[in-house]
Amino acid sequence: MLMALCLGLARAPAAAAAPTKPANLQEYAQQVAQNVRVTWSHADRIWKGADYMQLMLVLTDVKEAWAITADATHELTPEERANLPMPRLSGSVNYQPFDDFQGHRGLTISVPRNYFGTTWDQFEPQYLSTFAFHVASHELFHFQVQDLAHGGWSLPVGDHPASRGTLYPLEIAPRVARLELFDALLHAYAEPARRAEHLGAAAYWYNVWASESGEAGEQSMTDLTEGTAEYFAVVAGARAALGFDALAETYRRTLIGELEKRRDQQWIPQLDLESYHIGVAAGLLAEEQGLDWQADAARGTAPITFLLQNVPPVAQEPTPRTVARISSAVADENAQVAPRLDPLIDALADPSHAVLALPATGMVGTFAPGQGFYHAEDMPDLQLMPSVSARFELPAGGVNVNRRAAAFGDAPCPLDPPPPADVGQAQRAALSAFLLVPLGPEEIEDATSDLTITSGTLITRVHVNRVQDDTGRPVYCAVAPET
Ligand SMILES: [Zn+2]
Repeated sequence: MLMALCLGLARAPAAAAAPTKPANLQEYAQQVAQNVRVTWSHADRIWKGADYMQLMLVLTDVKEAWAITADATHELTPEERANLPMPRLSGSVNYQPFDDFQGHRGLTISVPRNYFGTTWDQFEPQYLSTFAFHVASHELFHFQVQDLAHGGWSLPVGDHPASRGTLYPLEIAPRVARLELFDALLHAYAEPARRAEHLGAAAYWYNVWASESGEAGEQSMTDLTEGTAEYFAVVAGARAALGFDALAETYRRTLIGELEKRRDQQWIPQLDLESYHIGVAAGLLAEEQGLDWQADAARGTAPITFLLQNVPPVAQEPTPRTVARISSAVADENAQVAPRLDPLIDALADPSHAVLALPATGMVGTFAPGQGFYHAEDMPDLQLMPSVSARFELPAGGVNVNRRAAAFGDAPCPLDPPPPADVGQAQRAALSAFLLVPLGPEEIEDATSDLTITSGTLITRVHVNRVQDDTGRPVYCAVAPET
C-alpha cells in the first residue's frame, strides 16, 4: 500500500533559502526535468544497480500534464491524459505510481493549481532540488529498487505484517536516544578528524536505544526501507543541484546543511519519521567511508545497523538541551493525538463496539494516516492511526474514509478482492491486513446486509456480512454477496 506520509513532511516548517519560483506548471516542469536529466541517467552512481533511465515522472494539475524522463520531456495531449493513472485523493500534493504508462514505469504527481503560491513557499525551500523530483526519486526507490511488490529486497518481517509506528503514549527515553544518535552521526560527518570519537558516541546511543526501547528489529524496519529511499532522494537532490563533478568539499558542505536542517526544523519524535533522517546521515557516512553497505541493505540490514556494527561504543550523557526539546515535543505530540487515539483504543478494547473491516487489497490511490502511526501496549497486532484518509473500491461496493481514527489489524473476514498472485512476502503480509473502523451506534442502526453511511468522516455504500470475532465483537465484513 502507498502512503502519502511516506516522506514524513506533514508538519515540517519552511526553511529560508529559495530557488526561483516558477509562475506555472510548465515552468515548474522545466525545473523538475532539469533535475531528472542530470541525475536519473546516473542513478547507479548513487545506488549501485539503481536504474532510473526508463522511469517516467508525470506532473499534472489535471488541466495539463508533463511527462518527464531522463532523456525527454513532453506535454501530454488530452487523449494521452485520458489514460494517465491519477492520484485519488485531493490533498496538497499526491502521487500515484504506475507500472506501464506509454511503456514506462513511473509516478504521477498531482500539483494543485494554487501550488505556486503559499504551498510552494512551504514545500520547495525544504529540498535541495525541486520537491516533485525529491518525491519521485524517493517513491520510485521503493518501487524500482526495493521492489517489495515483486519480492525484491528481503526484509526482516518475520511472522508479523510489515507494520510501522511508535508506542503510544510516546516515551521520552527512546526518542532522546534517537536524536542523540542523529547528532553524533551529524558530527561524525561534519568533523572527519574526530570521526572515530563521534561514531563511538553514535554506537553508544544506538545500543541504548536497541537494548532498552524494544523498538529495534522488525519495529524499525523503516530504518531500512525509508532510510535508504530518503538517502537516495537526498543525494539525488544534491547531485541535481551541484552536478556529479562538484568538489567533494562543496558536496559535503551542502549535505552538512541538509543534516542540520533536518535536525533543527524537521525532526518529529516518532520512530518511523526519525528513520528518514537517520538513514540519510548513516548513508552519507557509509558512502564517505567507502563501505559496501548497499548490497547488505538489499539483504535486510539497515544502513545505521551496518555502519555501527563494528564500532566500539563510548559511554555518553544525554544533552540537557536535547532532553528538554524531546520532553516538550513528546508532550505536544501526545496531547495532539490523544483526543483521537484514546477513543479509538477504548473502542478497540471494548468487545461490544462494532467495527467495519475493509480489506487493504481494495484500497486505491494514496493513503494518508494523518498524524502518524502508533501502537498501544496491550494491542501489539494493531496499528493505530489518529486520522486516516483512504478510499476503497471493493467487489462489495465503495468506501471513503476521511480523516477518521482507525487501525490496521486482522479481521475474521475474507480478503475480497484477494491479493494479486505475484506479490512478495512483505507485500503479502501488508495486504492481508484490514482497516478496522469503529462504528457509532447511530451508524449501524439500520444496517442489515447493506451499510450506507454518509457522514463527514465515512461514506459507505457497501454490502456487508455481520460476523463476530473471537471476543464476540460485531464485525461488519465488506464482502460481496456470492452470486
Ligand atoms: Zn518512503
